[in-house]
Amino acid sequence: MSSRSRSASPRIAIGGILHETHTFMEQPTTLAEFATGSLCRGEDILREMRETRSGIGGMIEAASASGWRLQPTLYATAMPAGTVSEDAYQALLTDLLDHLRGALPLDGVLLALHGAMVAGDELDVETDIVARVRDVVGAETPIVALLDMHGNISPGLVDVADALLAYDTNPHIDAHARGAEAIDVMARLLRREIVPTAAYARPALLLPPQSTGTDDEPLSLLHARAADMEAEDAVLCIAVMAGFAYADTPYCGASVIVTTDNQPELARQYARELSDLLHARRDTALPRFLQPHAAVAQAAQIDDGPVILVDSADNIGGGTPGDGTEALMAMLDHDVQEGAIVLADAEAVAICRAAGQGATVTLDVGAKADNWHGAPVRVTGRVQALSDGVFAPELPDNHFAAFYGNEVHMGNCVWLRVGGVNILLTERKTPPMDLAQLRHIGIIPEAQRMTVVKSAVAYRAAYMPIATAVIEMDTAGLCSANLRRFPYRHLKRPVFPLD
Ligand SMILES: [Zn+2]
Repeated sequence: MSSRSRSASPRIAIGGILHETHTFMEQPTTLAEFATGSLCRGEDILREMRETRSGIGGMIEAASASGWRLQPTLYATAMPAGTVSEDAYQALLTDLLDHLRGALPLDGVLLALHGAMVAGDELDVETDIVARVRDVVGAETPIVALLDMHGNISPGLVDVADALLAYDTNPHIDAHARGAEAIDVMARLLRREIVPTAAYARPALLLPPQSTGTDDEPLSLLHARAADMEAEDAVLCIAVMAGFAYADTPYCGASVIVTTDNQPELARQYARELSDLLHARRDTALPRFLQPHAAVAQAAQIDDGPVILVDSADNIGGGTPGDGTEALMAMLDHDVQEGAIVLADAEAVAICRAAGQGATVTLDVGAKADNWHGAPVRVTGRVQALSDGVFAPELPDNHFAAFYGNEVHMGNCVWLRVGGVNILLTERKTPPMDLAQLRHIGIIPEAQRMTVVKSAVAYRAAYMPIATAVIEMDTAGLCSANLRRFPYRHLKRPVFPLD
């Protein structure tokens, strides 16, 4: 290890490449998607990320407070989506490594990574990144990385990094705090106070994202036990990784990384204990849902509406197209009177607008974006109303504002009534986060017997105050909690719940 800066303030490189990759989505993630996410280099990283509540924001703040001379490299994130293109990955990695070489000599490297990134044919991106960084800085320079708890971790990553930390919460409200904790670990490494020894354990378990809340079982049990372990002086940090089930890689799924201060046997024992605990409670991670026809039949038995039919497989916030049709099919088959559903279908909007308000039209609606969300449904219905698709949210504290500002623009919209089913056709997909989405065109949310929401959680603020019941459905879609729907090729088997 260099002794040059031991007395002065340490020179620490910082950067990261983060992506949560849904390998079953066809559209690749390219540099353009990183450019519209976060993509900054050099001093811009410190300027743009310092004030954020992100993991790297926590690192920058704590490192600056410690008086370290940060050497910013490259920081890149994009929205969760399909496999990152080989070109994009190599460009980003080359950029990061070039900045790193320019910053030598270094006393340490801090990385913000996700853990579930897949790029081209590279199925273990984070291990590749850390190994390439290691090649540049050498074996003696400590590398500390912060991961998203949805990362799919291979044993190789544990071997190549000096210390790995991860968020402890989902939603990720502690990213900033974990960034600061990474600085604490690095500071102790630089003072040579600690010798991190990590152990990794994998319970061979896939958790659907719907089951990765840290306030709920099974993860709440692990975090409670891990907190007790971390209270011991010998335990430096514990990463309870839920994994990301939609990234088809060999080590996809849950894992545990326990890092102790030079006590390898204790690390192995605790990692195994946490992994066994998760495995023992694996049934609590199984989704509870009904087939769409059964869900509609059950909703029809409930006198008061609206019953909320949750189509989380077509969770628009998770990147799906918002045009899944299985719930619509079920409502039409049951001849539901006053059922509502929103479908993103620009082609159907155009046909209805051309026909005009009051016209009767026959057309195919939905399931046009890909082959994952059912089949288009041939319907004959009346064009009840047309709109420009602009509405102001009713919720005073609306979550739309962060994405859309104070007005939501869905593109041109049509209220198409088929039998007793009210279909809101929109040009742009829009999550069901506010009742004004339906009301703006004349569909009364409170008057529906049942309403389909294409969301996992985001619908709750708007719909729970009026809902008489909530029924989760097992529908087709890229965000399905039913993991048997996905054609895994790379995942190590056997794994629960597939085998
Ligand atoms: Zn996450």
